[in-house]
Formats: sequence, C-alpha cells, structure tokens
Amino acid sequence: MTDTVNHLGATLQDFLDGRLDDTRQVEVRAHLDGCPQCRGELEALRWVRDVALKQLPGEEVPPALADRVTAALDAADGRTRPAASWTSRRRWWQWATAGAVLAAAALVLLLVSRPRANLVDAVTRDFATYSSGTLALDLRSSDGAAVESLYARGGVDFRTRVFDLGMMQYRLVGGRIHRLRGRPSALFAYRGPEGRDLVCQMYEGRLAELPRSDDVREHNGITFQVYRAGRLTLVFWQEGAVVCVLASDAESEAVIQLAYAKAAKA
Ligand SMILES: [Zn+2]
Repeated sequence: MTDTVNHLGATLQDFLDGRLDDTRQVEVRAHLDGCPQCRGELEALRWVRDVALKQLPGEEVPPALADRVTAALDAADGRTRPAASWTSRRRWWQWATAGAVLAAAALVLLLVSRPRANLVDAVTRDFATYSSGTLALDLRSSDGAAVESLYARGGVDFRTRVFDLGMMQYRLVGGRIHRLRGRPSALFAYRGPEGRDLVCQMYEGRLAELPRSDDVREHNGITFQVYRAGRLTLVFWQEGAVVCVLASDAESEAVIQLAYAKAAKA
C-alpha cells in the first residue's frame, strides 16, 4: 500500500487541469521526472481527456450516472479514498462527456486508484500511451518480416511472429522493442476498421503470472485468458516460452476471434 501513498494519484488530474499552485507544480514535475508509473498514469489521463474532447461534443454526463460510476469504482477498489481525491474526480466529471468516454474514464480511474503491479495493467497502459501517440514505434512498416528483423537485430532473443491480419482488415503499422515490467517485449501495432488500434506484445513468461481472469476460454486446444478494462479487451495466450497478448478497443468478441485466428499451438 505504500506504493499508492507515495505516488501522485489524483493529484495528476489537478496537474493536468492546471489547478495546482506553482510550488506544487514544481514538486509534481520533479516526481514525474523520476517516476515512470506516474508518467504512465498522466499519459493515460491525457488520453482520456483527448478522447473526451474529440468525441460526443456537448453531451453532459448525467450527475447520477457519474455518481454511480464513482460508487462502482469505490466498491471495486474495496477501500475508502481520501476526500480530497474525490473532490478532484468530481470536478473532472463536470466536463467529461458521455458514452465511450465514461468507459475510458472508468478504466483510467481504476488504474490510478489501485496498486498496479501486474502485467495486465502494464499492457493496458501501453495501449493507452500508444493510442495517444506518446509511445513511439522504432520502425514504421507494414512489412512483417522487416519488423521481425528489427527485434532480431535489437536483441530480442526469442522468436517473434508478427501476424498478418490483412484478411481481417488490420494493417500493420510497425514495431517497437519494448519493455514490459522490466522484460524485453516485441510490441507491434495495427490500424483496423474504423481507425481502431490493435497492439500486440510478445514476451517471455507464463500465463500463470497473470491475475485471475473471469473469462478463460479454450479454442483448438489453446487456453486464452481474457481481461476487460473499460472499453479495452486484452487476450493472452501461451506459445512455448512466450506469452502473446492482443489489446484493442475494437468490439470484444472480434478481438478474441483475432486471437483465435492467429494463436499457434506451441
Ligand atoms: Zn510516482
């Protein structure tokens, strides 16, 4: 729990909205310089704000709905938070817009409000930062072989398999030699129908390291662990020593079908 106490948490929203005094701003900047976790959260909040500003202009969040979401988050969290952070979250709702934005906001509040030590959260955060344009690709190319050779040259020492999702209307955008909670990860991204992003990662690990999922499926003898966070769907499966994950804000079952189509039996 000390993990959450020392981080910026809800202060990040005040920082983003320009509500902090000069002294506090300097302190926050200093913390951000040394803390990748809070930088990640800030990027996620910025992403939600940008989505909120782009979509559904003029639609107000009904106050009762905002309260229900807030209460649900509280229950999910299983503990009470300081009153100060509630005040700033409520202010946030005043300008938030409806629909998909609420789902995105719920995702980010969940991320901000609990200790985040797991791979599912890390992949979720990577999707948010990629989607907001702050997680850059090392190579932009629609050529899967070129992206695979980026990994080989860049010291990723497990075999990578950049999927061809052309049949499903997903075009490869490029790849990045990434780190996922301290371990090398081959990250590659696609742009799908209606501008949906799809981010894949492969890293050495075991499915057993992931938190419990309430949605575990078997398909062609392969086990898939599915997680949902707001409007994101994440699908993990094992291929030998490597774990593969697809993350997308496309329709949930469609993301699962993509995983079924591309998973290979180890
Ligand atoms: Zn921090």
